[in-house]
Amino acid sequence: MMKDQLQRFLFEDFQIRGEIANADNSFRELLANHNYTEEVRNLMGELLIAATLLTAMLKFEGKITVQLQGDGPLKMAVINISQDLVLRGTANVDGETSGLSFAQLVGEGHLMISITPKNGERYQGIVALDKTSLSACIENYFAQSEQLATRIILHANSQNNMQCAGLLLQTLPMADVEEKEHDDDFQHVCALAHTVKATELYELTHDELLFRLYHQDKVRLFDEQSIIYQCSCSKERCISSLASIQPKEILEILKEESVIEMHCEYCAKDYRFDINDLQILLTDTNEQQH
Ligand SMILES: [Zn+2]
Repeated sequence: MMKDQLQRFLFEDFQIRGEIANADNSFRELLANHNYTEEVRNLMGELLIAATLLTAMLKFEGKITVQLQGDGPLKMAVINISQDLVLRGTANVDGETSGLSFAQLVGEGHLMISITPKNGERYQGIVALDKTSLSACIENYFAQSEQLATRIILHANSQNNMQCAGLLLQTLPMADVEEKEHDDDFQHVCALAHTVKATELYELTHDELLFRLYHQDKVRLFDEQSIIYQCSCSKERCISSLASIQPKEILEILKEESVIEMHCEYCAKDYRFDINDLQILLTDTNEQQH
């Protein structure tokens, strides 16, 4: 089956929309240079799928960031994803994480969802991480901040093969549907969604899976969109971030260390710059001084 795909779907007869995704390759690439325990790896897989399923919140060009922050050994975990499904992410771990549950990993903390349009104001929503799973925290986020009934199923397996997949169901803002009927419809599609097994989400095509769950309902499945792992760091970006440091300081560091080293927290890539690489920063100032 095609991997690393997101597909949207709609129930023709209910005011309910859905998203379905799998991202085995992106999951593998995301973790390639990080040495996390299985517990952290799986949570990163769930977070990756969750962020992907939430990209429908992006109505304009921009990116969405889903971040966990807490006082447990997993201090922070984040996934950034753009409207064209280019993503990157990282985690900050301090302490033993083996054998820990979701609640033990994150401790007391919060989940933040930020939407940063390319043009316009950033929007940020926040909810406490006080549930026993990431999916329950995200459902709670939507119940509190958007008043939209939401069901999200997330699975990740990093033991043998790297696999991650998930499914989101959400009520559409009500138009001409009775509230009672609306609730019943949502309960119906959620009850069926909860019969899905992780292996089915990993292995069936989206077509097969939706047929398996909803062959008695009318479902319209939209075209697939590819999910791409790609870090946005580059030599040029590193150099421009150094522009905030005084050229005098850069020269002092270079005198002592002969190179300036920079590390990308996301993809774990190391960059090294010597005086020749940084000439552009140093020349500019000379001109200013004259
Ligand atoms: Zn990077």
